[in-house]
Parts: sequence; C-alpha cells; structure tokens
Amino acid sequence: MHETAAGLPQSPGRSPRSYLALLLSLLLAALPVIQASNQQAVPRPALPPEVLAAMNEALLRPYLELFEQAARLEFTPAQIQEMRRYLEQARSNCVRRWRERARQLERDLEKAQAELRARTAKLKPEERRELHCQIQNLRLLKSQADTLAEHAVPVAFENRLAKLELIEKWPQDEKKIKEELASGAYINRRWGDVLDIGFRQVGQGQEEDIKIGQETVEQMKLAGLMPPEVKNEVIQQYVARLTREVARHSDVRVPVRVTVLNSKEINAFALPGGFIYVERGLLEAVEDEAQLAGVIAHELAHVAARHGHRLMRRSTIASLIYQAAQLAAMILTGGVASLGTYYALQYGFYGLGLVLSLDLLGVSREFELEADQLGIQYAWHAGYDPKGFIRFFDKMATQEGYVQGISWFRTHPPFYRRMVEAMREISFLPPKEKLVTQTDAFQQMKRELEKVVAEAKEEEEGRPSLIAPEQGCPAPEKLEFKPGERRIETVCDMPTS
Ligand SMILES: [Zn+2]
Repeated sequence: MHETAAGLPQSPGRSPRSYLALLLSLLLAALPVIQASNQQAVPRPALPPEVLAAMNEALLRPYLELFEQAARLEFTPAQIQEMRRYLEQARSNCVRRWRERARQLERDLEKAQAELRARTAKLKPEERRELHCQIQNLRLLKSQADTLAEHAVPVAFENRLAKLELIEKWPQDEKKIKEELASGAYINRRWGDVLDIGFRQVGQGQEEDIKIGQETVEQMKLAGLMPPEVKNEVIQQYVARLTREVARHSDVRVPVRVTVLNSKEINAFALPGGFIYVERGLLEAVEDEAQLAGVIAHELAHVAARHGHRLMRRSTIASLIYQAAQLAAMILTGGVASLGTYYALQYGFYGLGLVLSLDLLGVSREFELEADQLGIQYAWHAGYDPKGFIRFFDKMATQEGYVQGISWFRTHPPFYRRMVEAMREISFLPPKEKLVTQTDAFQQMKRELEKVVAEAKEEEEGRPSLIAPEQGCPAPEKLEFKPGERRIETVCDMPTS
C-alpha cells in the first residue's frame, strides 16, 4: 500500500484511519485504470494462436534443446519475423512502463519529502516515523523500477530474441559446421591445435602480469572493495582443487591463486597474473561440477590470453581502482543519487562485477568470445563435459541470472553469437569418452555451502542497513520482483500492483 500512499499526505492532520480509507478508495478507483493501460501496453503478435503458443513454448526451452530441435521446428520466416517485431515492441513497452513508474515514484518521493519539510516542527513522533517509512519505501521502489527498466528487462528480452535467432539460423550454421568437419577445415580455425594445449603460444609473458595482479588485490583491499572470504575449508579447498585441475589442462603458465568470496553475486573474475576470485553466489547457482568447471575455465582463459594486460595498456591500475573506490565511497556514504546502485549491491543485483573496470578484467566483446572458446577447450581437456558452460549460461540468462548476474552480461557479445560460437567449438573437439558432469566432492561442497549461506543471511538481516535507516517500518514487501522466484517477463505482462 505504500506504493500509492505517498500521493496522500498533502492533507495534514488526518487520522491514520482516514488515510487508510482514502487510500483504499483511491486504490480501488485506480485499479481499472491501471489494468486498462496495462492491457493497452501489451502488444499482440499477429500470429495464429496455435503458432504463438508453440513459439512461446519453444522460446522457453534451453539452448541445448533448441540446438537439437531447431531444424525440426516448422515456423515460417514470416512468423519468425512477426515474433521478433512483437518481442522488440514488447521490450520497449515494458521498459517504457517501468521508466514511467520510476518517474511517478520520484514525484511521490518529492511530495513526501516536501510534506516532511513543511510540517517538521509540528509532527508527532509516530507521524514522523510514518513519513520516514513512506520515504524509505518509495526510495526502494524507485531503485527497483530503475533496475528493472535499465537492466533486468532488456536482458530478459535479449535472451528470448537470441533463442528466436537460433531457431531461424542454427540449421544453416549447423550445416556449415558439418561441412567444415567433413573437409577437415575446422583444424585451421584459431586455436584449432587443441592437442597441444599447454605447449602452444597463447599469451606469451604471463608472468609479467603477476605484479599487476598483486598490486590490484592490495589496492582493492585498501579501498574496501574486496568482500570477505568464505571461512570454510571444505569449500575453499574444493574450489582450489578444481581450479588447479583445470589450470593444469590449460595454457596458463603462472601459479594460480583461488579465493572464494562471501558475496551473493553470481560471478567469478580473474585478475591479471592468475588471481581467480569465485563469488559465493556462483557456487549457489551452479548445478554440477561441469558447469562450475566451465565458468572457471573461462576465467583461466582470460589469464592465459592476457586479456587484462592487453586492455590495461589504455589506463593505469591506480586510475582503475580509483574509479572503483570512488563509486564504492559514494555508495557507502549513501548519496541518494547512488541509491539505486546501493540497492542493487545490497540485493545482489550486481556487485564487484559492476565496480571493477572491464579493462582490468580483460572483458571486451572480442576477448569474451576468445575466453569462451579457450575455456571450453580447457574444461574438455580436463575431462569435463564442455556443454556445462552452455547449460550454465542458459541458467544465468533464464533464471536468477537475469538480475543477479547482470555484471556477467556486461558488454558481453550478443547471446546468440556467443551460444553458436560455443556450440561450434564443442562440435570441433575430438570425441572423448566418460566426460565428467557431476562428482561427490561437488555435492559435499554444496552441503557445506548451505551452512555458509544460512549464516550470511542471518548476519545480513541483523545488520543495520543504509537502504532502510528507519527501523521497524513495515517490510518492503512491495518490491515487485525478487530474483529467482519467477520469470522476469512477468513484470511486463501483469498489473504491477
Ligand atoms: Zn569473461
């Protein structure tokens, strides 16, 4: 109810009960309008119902299934075109709606603050508290509306559009792959010499990066940017063992140091010189060892190919860390302008992945594709099912990753291109028997992780929070979307209240 309450306090001196009555009547009056404008906002694709249903269903399937089925799906080019037009329109409608909502919340917020200013001398303690709670709630709602409009909704639609592109183009792409396999041309692709992994010239001079990596770690710690480590030996050792095993089957030629960080972001990152950081949220999100190996192998590929080094020529570490530290300082001092960012960090929408410079992490579109390719090779060479990487990507793009793994998708190559390139590489790898997907050690790690997560949650709840400085307000249950609970497109299809 706080969503609309903010529009009310212009009439001072009302009793809480009359507020409530007024609020209810306003809500009831507004409901049909909200629904009507919402129905108007949802465009209808010009497709026969059965085609629409079949297509909707297909777009929800995992990438790996679609790769297998695409050739048998019988949608016409015109139908695919119409669906694309519809999805693009639905995306801009949804983004526009959440932007409008954010603007409305901003106005409500200003009103509530004006009210507080105007009446500050006369307010009774409980009235003041009520206004504080309202303002707090409005700030939270606005942050969420911003996050949905600018990050979560666009990624969700991009994923749907990528699957549509897959249905359209994969049969042709697959034909080309088969031709290359038959002619032997695939051997000549970049890094096609997979039997020489560890002996070929990928990223000469990796040892020169160790100093940069070390300095970065120190500066991050000084700036308060490094989340605490997970204090659990089983988890730390498991991840370290797995990472070393994949590294041993890679082109990495520097000692690898691995740390599991206690942060709920779904992410892993590599600093130059072999410093690998795995965030707790990633361990929570992966379903088997092949998925985790796929992500870690991707990070090791950044180290091997010296992507960070190659991008960092443009700037110094000090300036990169300074930017991050500035952002962190802004967030931690609670500037209202950065509340959206703070909210996002607090809820794990994004974290380190947001504040760390992409140059430092060696992330660019081109390097990302290279890290995907090399990472798939390393996971395969270490004996893992390389499709684990695709399955994890799917999970990220389809479920909680929409929002919580936003930084994972930062400036990354278009989804379809990424998935097709990954599938192409997998098709070119020499067949191997007994590829590993799941292990007992992984499941043991998961059991330990449950304890760590439970502890972290408990600690978070008890911690006074910058986003909710007024204690004891009604819980901000009006937050429309909690990652992982439902598909994010649902925020586009239904009334928001
Ligand atoms: Zn990457």
